[in-house]
Amino acid sequence: MQEIDGHTRLCGLIGNPVEHTMSPAIHNTLAKQEGRNLVYVPFHVEKGQVGQAVKGAFALNVLGLNVTVPYKSEVIEYLDGIDDMAEKIGAVNTLVRTKNGYKGYNTDITGLYCAMCSEGIRLEGEEILVLGAGGAARAAAFLCASKGAKKVYILNRTVEKAKAVEEEVNRIFHTQCASAMCTEDYKKLGTDRKYLAIQATSVGLYPDTEKAVILDREFYERIHTGFDLIYRPFCTKFMSLVREAGGQAFHGLKMLLYQGVEAYELWNGIGVEEEDIQALYGVLLKAMEI
Ligand code: NAP
Repeated sequence: MQEIDGHTRLCGLIGNPVEHTMSPAIHNTLAKQEGRNLVYVPFHVEKGQVGQAVKGAFALNVLGLNVTVPYKSEVIEYLDGIDDMAEKIGAVNTLVRTKNGYKGYNTDITGLYCAMCSEGIRLEGEEILVLGAGGAARAAAFLCASKGAKKVYILNRTVEKAKAVEEEVNRIFHTQCASAMCTEDYKKLGTDRKYLAIQATSVGLYPDTEKAVILDREFYERIHTGFDLIYRPFCTKFMSLVREAGGQAFHGLKMLLYQGVEAYELWNGIGVEEEDIQALYGVLLKAMEI
């Protein structure tokens, strides 16, 4: 535990709930590795109080904040600036202290990209299935379009939400690559090629570990690589189904790792060494008792 004194800087997480977060493990481990006088704590913020939380944090000289569900969009109106990509996505998960307030960034998208790169997954020229149309799926669809995917199919239970993501991606990136579908319409996808699938729904999240948004083997036979954003459990039903049908599958812990590392880098104006990132990953795996 970092010794707290008069020079200790504070960072934290605002959200509701925040009680199961892994972020303190990320940031307090990085601070310890670096010998930096910084501590990170979760702040449970009640509905309707996110503006006051941001204002109060600034007044208390808080160095930086992460933002989680349900405030990633709502917080934007209380910021003094916003990064271009975060503005396009319409969601921020990291606030960086500037002269007059906080500037918002979206390190979920860069975290997802770093995690995929570290697993050797490429997006350029790929045909990609994004399962879901919530905040995380939106970031995934934006990432795929920004990295030159050939097609991005957005499959969601509520097709109107998938259509809204389709329209925004196509408008913002001046493309026609995004295409919305009902989840069950996967049967209409061609069988002459295999896809990269990004699982960005909350189905399969602990404790509902036996669930997946699609259970049909026919779907999984179309997948060469499955990337699940969920990291609890470590092997989701979606991942098992991808593997059983012959594909490779990855979980979301590295996304969590890299989004945290980038936030830490932004707050402290430094670059974290790859060696320290790998050591941190070991700490996260241990924290999850794997
Ligand atoms: P969200 O905005 O609440 O979106 C949830 C999505 O799941 C929606 O598309 C929703 O469909 C779908 N869904 C929920 N229950 C369903 C059901 N029973 N059947 C079919 N579809 C269902 O959540 P989010 O913030 O995007 O997060 C999604 C997942 O990503 C979560 O599990 C979260 O833990 C994970 N995540 C991981 C990281 C990481 O660092 N690894 C970062 C962010 C998020 P409808 O639109 O039809 O409701």
